[in-house]
Amino acid sequence: FGVTVLDMRVAILGDEYVLLLADDQTEIVRAQSVRSDFVANVSHELKTPVGAIRLLSEAIDDAADDPEAIRHFTKSLHKESGRLTALVQDIMELSRLQGTDVVAAGLPVELDRVINEAVDRNRLTAESRDISIVVGRKVDAQVFGDADLLITALRNLIDNAIRYSPAGTRVGVGVRERDGMVQVSVTDQGPGISEDEQGRIFERFYRIDAARSRQTGGTGLGLSIVKHVMQQHGGEVSVWSREGQGSTFTMAIPVMEDMGAGDASRGEDG
Ligand code: ADP
Repeated sequence: FGVTVLDMRVAILGDEYVLLLADDQTEIVRAQSVRSDFVANVSHELKTPVGAIRLLSEAIDDAADDPEAIRHFTKSLHKESGRLTALVQDIMELSRLQGTDVVAAGLPVELDRVINEAVDRNRLTAESRDISIVVGRKVDAQVFGDADLLITALRNLIDNAIRYSPAGTRVGVGVRERDGMVQVSVTDQGPGISEDEQGRIFERFYRIDAARSRQTGGTGLGLSIVKHVMQQHGGEVSVWSREGQGSTFTMAIPVMEDMGAGDASRGEDG
């Protein structure tokens, strides 16, 4: 039947009928395997900065008489510990999101607020790379969920757009309503992503160019976090991209339904 049955119980119903109760354990077995893959990946990813920090601290010890070398190693040490912090934060975020229904106690969230905050938090990185963030026309829409998670998700998309694009280019953030969904999209003029890779980039720790990702401070978990935030909101994230022409990532989230008494005032516009 294509299922792994690990648990079967038999109930006797009278003389002639036997009822077999079989639990489909396929999902449980699959979840266990996904979890152990994740633990293996996490250990592997943690080893890189932890190993670098150990080597750098030894190098600082050895360079006791060379202030210039100490400055250099200390700078690298700082960078590696920043990488470790980002990794631990993303791992915690992802494991929280994979728990049950983190937005069960969601509230109405103004999309404009999400966009403003996500853009603000990326301003400095954008400026440091001479990239301008252009925000499109406002849409007066609300969704039901967790504002902080939605800001984190959009921030990740804008952060990627900035990190993977050449200096001097533009990143566009747009929002529109269609078919009961609010679509928030982030468009860049970066290298683009091949069709093959488009199917894989939402996997945990998957990177097209691992060196580039690490060098720019990526953890390999950004898009996976976006995907889980969308799942928690009954929405989805998708990508349109052509190599050499840039990429557009879109988060589609259900518009907040008319909430009935008390809070219906702004839920049904558009
Ligand atoms: P990372 O921390 O490596 O950026 P993500 O999960 O955010 O991890 O993204 C996975 C991979 O997808 C990245 O390593 C990069 O190769 C690719 N990617 C993501 N966003 C873009 C983009 N806007 N343009 C080109 N490639 C991208």
